Amino acid sequence: MDKFDEIKKYQTSHDEEFKSKGFSTKCVHMGAEPDYIFGSVNPPIHLSTTFAQREPGVPFGPYDYSRGGNPTRNNLERLIAGLESAEFGHVWSSGMAAMSGLIHLLKPGDEVLCIDDVYGGTQRYFKRVSAIQQGIVFNFMSFDDPKLLLTKMSEKTKMVVSETTTNPTLKTTDISEIVRVTKSYNQDIIVVIDNTFMSPYNCRPIELGADIVMESATKYIGGHSDILMGITCTNSKVLHEKISFIQKNLGGVPSPLECFLAIRGLKTLSIRVERQNQNAMAIAKFLETHKNVEKVIYPGLESSPYHQISKKQQKGFGGVVSFIIKGGIESKAFLKKLKVFLLAESLGSIESLIDHPALMTHLSVPEDVRKELGIMDGFFRISVGIEDLEDLLQDLKNALDEMTV
Ligand SMILES: *Cc1c(COP(=O)(O)O)cnc(C)c1O
Repeated sequence: MDKFDEIKKYQTSHDEEFKSKGFSTKCVHMGAEPDYIFGSVNPPIHLSTTFAQREPGVPFGPYDYSRGGNPTRNNLERLIAGLESAEFGHVWSSGMAAMSGLIHLLKPGDEVLCIDDVYGGTQRYFKRVSAIQQGIVFNFMSFDDPKLLLTKMSEKTKMVVSETTTNPTLKTTDISEIVRVTKSYNQDIIVVIDNTFMSPYNCRPIELGADIVMESATKYIGGHSDILMGITCTNSKVLHEKISFIQKNLGGVPSPLECFLAIRGLKTLSIRVERQNQNAMAIAKFLETHKNVEKVIYPGLESSPYHQISKKQQKGFGGVVSFIIKGGIESKAFLKKLKVFLLAESLGSIESLIDHPALMTHLSVPEDVRKELGIMDGFFRISVGIEDLEDLLQDLKNALDEMTV
């Protein structure tokens, strides 16, 4: 047996060993066997873009050029597959590279049924690039009642795209119900779930029957606001082979250095997200009682219409909370008073952030659509970090207390 077969066997048996272990154990060990030669407990960062060949067409091992595959990326792809309960994982240079890669599974004239509240960047790519340049037809609708998906399906429907929890209105979709309804119409329709807001700690769409889970790893998976990355995972060998081929051809792959940072970030995923779940829940409850807050949107609250679905399919409700302050309060003045929450886009990292969607993340959404979603001037989205809860509560309390209508 040649040494690469031996290494492959060593890696496979390592992953097999950890498949049955708990989630936190997987975070630390999946795809991270002690290095075959030196036993280093962290994977080597293989920066090489090319790999020597013994004779033309006969590389030393399984890699020839890093766009098609790289040993450090392979460590990460095995890790994310393990965490998403999938057989196969792919990592991309951003969440959008992952999503646009998946659309390459389709051909002109194919139809996609997509949740109306989908992430703004996905919406923009679908409507302004893919529909126009690639001839893919996108139909948008609410996924609140999955049975109604049937009303918009046809023999041309090839993909259904949804999100576990949407941004920033935090609508939660019933994933197993979406899968059941879709497959009852046609087994071959590919169900894609963007699980960015939950991370595999809180929800694993593959376990709920989704064909492909996709995430912006820029958020919870990376967790430190220092890498831009996307992931896709599947249990289907056919889809895996198609996605690998697309990935190699499109070329939107991350660098080995970033793969290493993602592996490092993932080791603490469960403790980060557990803390974020707890902090977010406490903050949502506090905001609900504040006299200057009109409404709090958080699936963890009993007042949320999505509470039961979230409880059924998730371990926690995530670190994102949206709220609307009382009419008449100056939103810019409120933001200025915050000291711990940083005013910035993005989410899922260890530091707490606040976003003003109407002027920041959702500025490109047409005003009438924003109005319909309730994203007005007083609407804020916070991404809760891992700081001490008391400091976060105090920061919000100080800023809110000082506001007068
Ligand atoms: C951020 C985000 C994306 C896009 O990911 P990038 O890494 O920014 O390209 C896709 N979906 C959701 C839900 C996101 O929050």
